[in-house]
Amino acid sequence: MTEERFMRAAIEAARVNLGKTAPNPVVGCVLVKDGVILASGATAPGGRPHAEDQALQAAGPSARGSTAYVTLEPCGARSSGGTSCSELLVAAGVARVVVACDDPSPFASGRGSERLAAAGVSVEVGLLAEEAFEGLDYAAWFASSAS
Ligand SMILES: [Zn+2]
Repeated sequence: MTEERFMRAAIEAARVNLGKTAPNPVVGCVLVKDGVILASGATAPGGRPHAEDQALQAAGPSARGSTAYVTLEPCGARSSGGTSCSELLVAAGVARVVVACDDPSPFASGRGSERLAAAGVSVEVGLLAEEAFEGLDYAAWFASSAS
């Protein structure tokens, strides 16, 4: 299935930086338009810039109308006070966001998805959730953000 292929590409992109992104979880993001991958990004070593930020930068204006496949819910606020990924996705005109796993951290926990939906972006959660959770070691991240 095509959608799964794109999410798998996002997971693969993230895996490159697995274990290097503390204090942030490793995230992969792939931007797709007309069935073609425009750009991809992963959380940079050290935790920023975030995956969505990098994929949007790489895609430029062509990101308008695209679908973003993201392994973890885009952040709704940032610990650094910078522009959140959900705001960046809205500003770039991304039409649809497909998320693998919800992020329980205080910086997302539904806020990212809510912000996107409020701006008219269609949001779907759960595609390849288990594969992303296992492959990107989110159990450790979820455990640390639950406290
Ligand atoms: Zn982010």
